[in-house]
Amino acid sequence: MKQKKSIDKPLCNCGIFGAFNDSSAASTAYLGLHALQHRGQEAAGIVSVEWDVNKKKYQFHIKKDFGLVTEVFRDESIFFNILKGDSAIGHNRYSTKGSSKRTQNIQPFFVHYHKGNLALAHNGNLTNTKTLRDRLEKEGTIFQTTTDSEIILHLIAKSKKEDLISQIIDALNQVKGAYSLVMLTEGKLLGIRDPHGVRPLALAKLENSYYIASETCAFDIIGAEYIRDIEPGEIVVIDDETVKTGEIKSYRLKEEVEQYHHCIFEYIYFSRPDSFIFGESVDKVRRKLGKSLAEEKPVYHVGDEKIMVMSVPDSSNTAAIGYADRSKKMGINTKLEIGLIRNHYVGRTFINPEKNGREMAVRRKFNIVRGVIKDRKVVVIDDSIVRGTTSKKLLKLIKEAGPKEIHFRVSSPPIISPCYYGMDFPSKEELIAVKCDEDVEKIREYLDVDSLEYLSVEKLLESVPKGGKIGYCTACFTGKYPIPFDNYDNKEETEN
Ligand code: SF4
Repeated sequence: MKQKKSIDKPLCNCGIFGAFNDSSAASTAYLGLHALQHRGQEAAGIVSVEWDVNKKKYQFHIKKDFGLVTEVFRDESIFFNILKGDSAIGHNRYSTKGSSKRTQNIQPFFVHYHKGNLALAHNGNLTNTKTLRDRLEKEGTIFQTTTDSEIILHLIAKSKKEDLISQIIDALNQVKGAYSLVMLTEGKLLGIRDPHGVRPLALAKLENSYYIASETCAFDIIGAEYIRDIEPGEIVVIDDETVKTGEIKSYRLKEEVEQYHHCIFEYIYFSRPDSFIFGESVDKVRRKLGKSLAEEKPVYHVGDEKIMVMSVPDSSNTAAIGYADRSKKMGINTKLEIGLIRNHYVGRTFINPEKNGREMAVRRKFNIVRGVIKDRKVVVIDDSIVRGTTSKKLLKLIKEAGPKEIHFRVSSPPIISPCYYGMDFPSKEELIAVKCDEDVEKIREYLDVDSLEYLSVEKLLESVPKGGKIGYCTACFTGKYPIPFDNYDNKEETEN
């Protein structure tokens, strides 16, 4: 079951969650995954671990399948009869690497090797997959899945180091790319981030229970208190000693970078606005992006006319608030309105896909509020344009309501390159900015609006948090990839 691309946006590949010392660990993981559903809707899974008093050993339990979290765990008896134990990890998946149709590719992965049992859930993409996979296969490794995440498990199993933590460090010192991981071992929960800190990962506590999640919105749903982010290049270990003493053990990977490369698109679109990521509120940053867009690409009123600002819901709502606020402060006669209503309950369609398929998809997803659009000078705020096909249909829909003018403003720069660090973009040739030779006027003509403007890369970087080693990946807007990769034939420029 492939995640539906009903709106033309890049897809985030995964959400991960971990719970330690929680008597309902698996059902807590379920709630966490539910809050992270936006990060992957193709498949979901949970692995739990319990201490078997009679057998005097740890027992791992697993449940995973295709579908939304609510579908995979529809039967609540799963939590009492199968997913027992006081620790668990979970994963929401959208496949960026590996076939989406193979059940073996659904995470978390669980393995038994000579040192014990290990479960892993991964958000991100490794960039030296081909090199490592070729090497491991030559050494006789048989892969069960087509994912890059499995490579990490094989490297751990093959490590000559003595203890588990040293084996994990040894394995991760060989991989490159973007990875935020949660791992469950016999008596330990681990949270790990790659040295560049591409994807987010945070740590929280509730009484004597500890939690790790891709975004802090997963902590709010369970009432846990955010402690801090797992640092780039850090391995955090939670065990029984942590529960007793409060001490969180921390280890470092070998690679040190001068500057981190957080995915800037997490702030623009992927993460939920109610989350804190990379140490900052997504809502706050997204408002700032809207404000910066108003400063850089304003739309002025003429005479006593009023500018009507509206968002493409839901992901652009916060940027639209920022845009309208700053426009007002700049003396522009502005009003923020809800001009588009998004239907959240779009199910199957029985309409012939050959016949206006995409247009109908847009109409089913969005409806216009005619009264607020008719005869107005309208500024439509969107967070990004990928292929441009959905934007074109949406703007046509708005035009039907009879606005005086339509000005389209985008709170990110034109997308000119795909992502190799864990987001699913269409191929380069499908990107509207590439099709139009990165000429904004050509894109405007295609979209058929009175004006089109994007936020510049410079203004985008001015609008996000800075300080210390904080830095960003902007490769999809610049084509400059901060982490080299060997996986792809179509290599772009790499920064180093
Ligand atoms: Fe994020 Fe774009 Fe970089 Fe991918 S290429 S990590 S989406 S900023």
